[in-house]
Amino acid sequence: NSVVLEARDLRKHYAVKRGAFKPMATVKALDGVSFRLQAGKTLAVVGESGCGKSTLARSVTMIEPPSSGELLYDGREVVGRSAAEMKELRRTVQMVFQNPYGSLNPRKTVGSILTEPLVINTAMDKHERRDRAVAMMGKVGLRPDQVDRYPHMFSGGQRQRIAIARALMLNPRVVVADEPVSALDVSIQAQVLNLMMDLQEELNLAYLFISHDLSVVRHIADSLMVMYLGKPVEHGAKDVVFSRPRHPYTRILLAATPRVNPDLRLDRVVPKGELPSPLNPPPGCSFHKRCPFATERCSAEVPPLRTVDERLVACHYAEQMD
Ligand code: SF4
Ligand code: MG
Repeated sequence: NSVVLEARDLRKHYAVKRGAFKPMATVKALDGVSFRLQAGKTLAVVGESGCGKSTLARSVTMIEPPSSGELLYDGREVVGRSAAEMKELRRTVQMVFQNPYGSLNPRKTVGSILTEPLVINTAMDKHERRDRAVAMMGKVGLRPDQVDRYPHMFSGGQRQRIAIARALMLNPRVVVADEPVSALDVSIQAQVLNLMMDLQEELNLAYLFISHDLSVVRHIADSLMVMYLGKPVEHGAKDVVFSRPRHPYTRILLAATPRVNPDLRLDRVVPKGELPSPLNPPPGCSFHKRCPFATERCSAEVPPLRTVDERLVACHYAEQMD
């Protein structure tokens, strides 16, 4: 299967002021993320808020280009391209945001929200655009006669269907979805997830699916990347990682996921202590202050991401975690 999105050592570093008399500090919001995503597959990125997963979404969509690393859409490097070249490439990767209330312009009808990308990016005439919008509404389970309605006339779940339809208007290969169902009621979440899975199958779409909700990820992902303070700490096939997690952070997250509780949220399952400030990350393993297995070595030596038991994992003691 073809690789439609590839990231190589993506970093997003920026300088911030800490105070009038202090030197500038560097925040490493994204600090060395690599992955390959194939057509028709879903890579889920999980972690607490502040782990860098939303920054990753904005970097791979070039909404906020990465500060270094390589990014390939359909095998073509995108970082450093001119605006004109980007316009064409950008169609490959589209985004669905978390908030179905905030991401749709309240003053525009669904029809004009859906046709807007076609006006900018295609030579279609008005009638062709409208036909495509109506057809897409059908695909996401909305009625064609709703095309002249405004976003506030729809429920949260319907609005997220509109956002998905908008993302698909230009026939992308990849959809980056940042917490696409977390603002919705649990009963509605399943409907939207099922729609996304049906569309994936029909259109051979790849999803980069950002989530803090492991029960959702278990349902939808083919592979999984667990992030902590801007870095991947465990990355591999979903079944491998779910059945034999080898990073202590993954283990804590999964152990706290009761299989019977469908609406468990990672946000509520905080391992001991707070997420350290990315302004002042701990030396050595960035997880060591919260890790139940930490040794002296962990506070001195950064554990590299390496292959252990069929997945990538960044822990000095990954072999012992079974
Ligand atoms: Fe814990 Fe040490 Fe492994 Fe980091 S390297 S996850 S602190 S055991
Ligand atoms: Mg976020």
